[in-house]
Amino acid sequence: MNIHEYQAKEILRNYGVVVPNGYVAYTVDEAVEAAKKLDSSVTVVKAQIHAGGRGKAGGVKVAKSIDEVRTYAEEILGKVLVTPQTGPEGREVKRLYIEEGCDIKKEYYVGIVLDRATSRVVLMASEEGGMEIEEVAAETPEKIFKEVIDPVVGLMPYQARRLAFNINIPEESISKAVKFMMGLYNAYVDKDCSIAEINPLVVTGEGDVLALDAKMNFDDNALFRQKDVLELRDLAEEDEKEIEASKYDLSYIALDGNIGCMVNGAGLAMATMDIIKHYGGEPANFLDVGGGATADKVTEAFKIILSDPNVKGIFVNIFGGIMKCDIIAEGVVQATKEVGLEIPLVVRLEGTNVELGKKILNESGLNITSADSMADGAEKIVSMLN
Ligand code: ADP
Ligand code: MG
Repeated sequence: MNIHEYQAKEILRNYGVVVPNGYVAYTVDEAVEAAKKLDSSVTVVKAQIHAGGRGKAGGVKVAKSIDEVRTYAEEILGKVLVTPQTGPEGREVKRLYIEEGCDIKKEYYVGIVLDRATSRVVLMASEEGGMEIEEVAAETPEKIFKEVIDPVVGLMPYQARRLAFNINIPEESISKAVKFMMGLYNAYVDKDCSIAEINPLVVTGEGDVLALDAKMNFDDNALFRQKDVLELRDLAEEDEKEIEASKYDLSYIALDGNIGCMVNGAGLAMATMDIIKHYGGEPANFLDVGGGATADKVTEAFKIILSDPNVKGIFVNIFGGIMKCDIIAEGVVQATKEVGLEIPLVVRLEGTNVELGKKILNESGLNITSADSMADGAEKIVSMLN
């Protein structure tokens, strides 16, 4: 789960990470009020969307007066921001963050992620603040420094200090940077984050160390014990189909292709997407209906796929192990009865109760193309759409 910058900063503040003062605003008037309360010579108006790259897209503006705050708030609120992280359709700005301007001397990058290769939490930092870290990693990987954290003792102050020296934080600001990194790490662990990224961390003219941007992602599997975090969820920022899927406990991720996929098991779902691509098609989603799904759950899954206007064909690829083929067939029939089916449907069923499943589909009167294998099914659905 994702949260907004201003929410992440609120969390970090409680862990001793210094952030500029600021207020969230939902209207232009609230933005002006916030700027008056801040009473700062420079105020920054920042679009709040669940995506980075806002600055370059015109979503971060520096205002020198209350009038400018009003102008920028009017300009940004309601605007559809297109950044490298939003996809081409962009994201409408519904909230602003009005923040004190900061006297930036230099920008740095600090991030914490879970490294699956070493099964350890890793703190990374770079002198190249403000730039996308992926870009730094591609062009100047030697400028990224890492500290691997032992889960038993946690981040040690000497590691934070070494990192601060490596990225050339000025000496007089090192201890502040250490406190910053320790706070960031504690927040990451306490809140069950999957990513915590500060880009940029800045050293100010006065030598203070602040987070000017903050991104926090949380492990969905830990949200049951992170009630305060769950309250920060902004459904307006999430894909409607994904919200619907999460209600039924389906693992669904919307993609931008046109072949809807209904699959059981994450591995098979990945392989199905690969094989569709192999035959020149583009999957419209990742969908794992899971092991013990009921016909109702399958019905919902099918409805979610059909509700995507980009979907021009569907490929159902089921290996019935724990999941039974007849349950899938019933779900498909039930869903198409409720919402209709006007697009090609290719079904590959294998495993437990496969004969019964095929019988249900055959007797349904639906126009279904059956496939003998994954490859056969992928090839069929791709060629039907071409
Ligand atoms: P994004 O990463 O989405 O572009 P940031 O929050 O990183 O958004 O803002 C982009 C840039 O705007 C920062 O790199 C920084 O230079 C500047 N900026 C952001 N917040 C402030 C602030 N409070 N004071 C001064 N400059 C800021
Ligand atoms: Mg940033």
